[in-house]
Amino acid sequence: MQFLKKITIAAATLLALTAFNTNAQLRLPDLHDQEHKDLIAAQRPIAADIKLVNTMKFIEQLKQEEIADNEIYSEYWESNLVNPYVGVEIPDTKNIDVSGYVHPIDIGTVTSRFGYRPRFRRMHYGIDIGVPKGTPVVSSFDGVVRLCKFERGGYGYYVVVRHDNGLETIYAHLSKITVKPNDRVKAGDQLALSGNTGRSTGPHLHFETRYLGMKINPETIIDFEQKSPINGIFAFDKKACEQSIKKAPAKITKRKTTASSRKKKTTTKKK
Ligand SMILES: [Zn+2]
Repeated sequence: MQFLKKITIAAATLLALTAFNTNAQLRLPDLHDQEHKDLIAAQRPIAADIKLVNTMKFIEQLKQEEIADNEIYSEYWESNLVNPYVGVEIPDTKNIDVSGYVHPIDIGTVTSRFGYRPRFRRMHYGIDIGVPKGTPVVSSFDGVVRLCKFERGGYGYYVVVRHDNGLETIYAHLSKITVKPNDRVKAGDQLALSGNTGRSTGPHLHFETRYLGMKINPETIIDFEQKSPINGIFAFDKKACEQSIKKAPAKITKRKTTASSRKKKTTTKKK
């Protein structure tokens, strides 16, 4: 009986070992190793893809966080106004990096400058570039689109972009806007197509540069003939800006001392 039991166990063990051996033969160490090599080889490009996608996601996330953290895009951001910086104290001077400037429009020439327009008895706070309707309009600096709006009696379709360097630029009388608020744009990225909407007498781009809501003559920053910044660093000067805005209407007020109604018109029609 004991012998029979031993035989059975031995037989069972042998059977199990045989089965194990058969199995083991299918996965010889070197073959197995080769399989691994194949798998690793096959996985490499996939892993690289995943890595790239993750890196891009990470960069995008960083960008979003940077936008949210950056006080440029968190302070006085939520506003429907062209000038959201109501009550903000403007520093006397500020060096602004404008080296990354890209001209907002490829073609066209300056048709009207910043300053007082005697013909219309009002200030012109931007520069006009005459271009056919439908010409692509691009962002002048890296930034985030703040406003895309329509104003029948003024700007027409217009876009306001806030930039990393602290400036805001305005693009007006557009025919079509191709971005939306909160879009991240690089200098040279298309914002819109030029047009003739709003208070406009012919197809052109009205372009404005502002710092904390203060209107700056774009020609003090940019050489419009060269289509490039005058200097890499623009030295903002609050007093000079205030004077450039006030100078012309003051002259007119002097001239029109007898026409009090006209005087009112010149001082109230500011944008
Ligand atoms: Zn204009």
